[in-house]
Amino acid sequence: MDDNKNKTILVIDDTERNLDMARSILQDYDVIPCTSGADALKVVRDEQIHLILLNTHMPDMDGYTLCRKLKQYPNTQEIPIIFITAETDEKSIEKVYDLGGADYVTQPFKAKELLARVRVQLQVQEMIRELDMMATRDVLTRVLNRKRFFELGEPLFNASGSELYVLMIDIDYLKKINDQYGHDVGDIVLKTVANVIKDVLPPDAIFGRMGGEDFSVMYTAQTHELSMDIVSDILKTVAETQILLKDGSAVSCTISIGIGRKYPEFNSLGSLLQEADITLCQAKESGRNTSIFRDR
Ligand code: GH3
Ligand code: MG
Repeated sequence: MDDNKNKTILVIDDTERNLDMARSILQDYDVIPCTSGADALKVVRDEQIHLILLNTHMPDMDGYTLCRKLKQYPNTQEIPIIFITAETDEKSIEKVYDLGGADYVTQPFKAKELLARVRVQLQVQEMIRELDMMATRDVLTRVLNRKRFFELGEPLFNASGSELYVLMIDIDYLKKINDQYGHDVGDIVLKTVANVIKDVLPPDAIFGRMGGEDFSVMYTAQTHELSMDIVSDILKTVAETQILLKDGSAVSCTISIGIGRKYPEFNSLGSLLQEADITLCQAKESGRNTSIFRDR
C-alpha cells in the first residue's frame, strides 16, 4: 500500500461531501482536494498529479471546461481524468470520452468501483510511462537513445547559433576492461560513466547514447570558456571516479571527447556531429583522456 502513497490524485468537486467521501475511499493514496477549477489549475502547475477525479457540474468552471483546458497544455494533457457525474444518459457519457476523459464514475460513489477504476487508470498510466521509456531511452544507461537524441537535438540545432556545442564522448580502452573483468563489469562502467556525465552537465543539456560506447551531448554555453569548463569537468570527474566491484576491488576509466561548435559552415546536426567525431579521433590519437576542439 505504501506505493499508492506515491500516487497523487487531485479530486475536484465543489461539494464537500463528495470530497470527504473520495478522501476516505482513496485513503491509501495521496489525495489533494480542490473545490474549484481555478484552484485546480494552480495545483496542476505546482504538483505532480497522477490522476484527476473531476465533477462535471461545478458553479464557476464546469468539469468539461476544465478538462478542455487541461488537455490543451503539454504538461497536463497526459494526466488521466475520471469524471464524477450524475448523468448516465448516452449523450453525457459520450461527451466524457469525446473530451478526452479516461473514464467516469456516477454519484453516489461505490467504494469498490471507484477504487477499481482508479487502479486501472494508474496501471495504464504506468504502462504508458514504461513504453515511453523503452521507446526513448537506452536500456542499459537510461540516457536518451539515438532516435530521441536527434528528435530533441534537431530543433535545438535549428534554434541555436555559435553558442551551441556538440560533444562526442568515447570510453578509453573499454575492450580491455571487458577482456580483463568481463562484460558485466564493462556494462557497470558504461552505466557509471553515463551517470557521472549526466551529473556534471547543465540541466538542459541533451545527452544520449549513440550506440556501443559512444555518447553525445548538446548544450549551449554563454562563452567558449564556460563550454570548455564543462568539458574539463566531465573529463576530470570521470577519471576520478572509482567504480566499486562486488569483490571489493575497484576499477576506473578515462574518456576522450571530440568537440564541435556550431560555426556557420555546419548546416546540419549531422555535419556538426561529424566534426565532433573527427576531433574525437584526434583526441584518441593524441593519447586519450583528453578533448580536442578545432577553432575556425
Ligand atoms: P578506444 O580507447 O580506442 O576507444 O578503445 P576501446 O577498447 O574502448 O574501443 P574499441 O572500439 O576497440 O572497442 C569498443 C569496445 O566497447 C568493444 C565493445 O565490446 C565494447 N562495448 C560496446 N558496447 C558495449 C556494451 O554495451 N557493454 C559492454 N560491456 N561493452 C561494450
Ligand atoms: Mg572506446
